[in-house]
Amino acid sequence: MSPFTSHMDIALDEARAAAARGEVPVGAVLVDPMGRVVARDGNRTRELSDPTAHAEVLVIRAACAAAGSERLPGHDLYVTLEPCPACAMVISAARIARLYYGAADPKSGGVVQGPRIFSHPQAHHVPEVYDGIRAEEAERLLKDFFAARR
Ligand SMILES: [Zn+2]
Repeated sequence: MSPFTSHMDIALDEARAAAARGEVPVGAVLVDPMGRVVARDGNRTRELSDPTAHAEVLVIRAACAAAGSERLPGHDLYVTLEPCPACAMVISAARIARLYYGAADPKSGGVVQGPRIFSHPQAHHVPEVYDGIRAEEAERLLKDFFAARR
């Protein structure tokens, strides 16, 4: 399996783990310039009573804390769902090199939908963005999760 595929595999595992905790199933993985997984997590907004506890923010926080730096140059972020505007700002601030994501989020996305944070003149750092990676699986997890809660 290519790193590309296996890293999104881990993100999907984290999304499934989030669903099992009753959280919206979104997972993220952060990979350092050597290709090592330095952080992996899923949404924990309910568990932490924290609206900013999205998977992307949690892995960036963990990796920054471990690195002792507010920036993660050369790092790649894999996330199962298009980041929201808040996460997109954090991704930019952390200087993430490449963003790989799965499903599009027409409702809350902030990358190719909504405010399109990375196209905004105030985005000082813009990662390379690759969308649609394993999107069907990511979407299926979200649909099943919301269907079960109805
Ligand atoms: Zn977010």
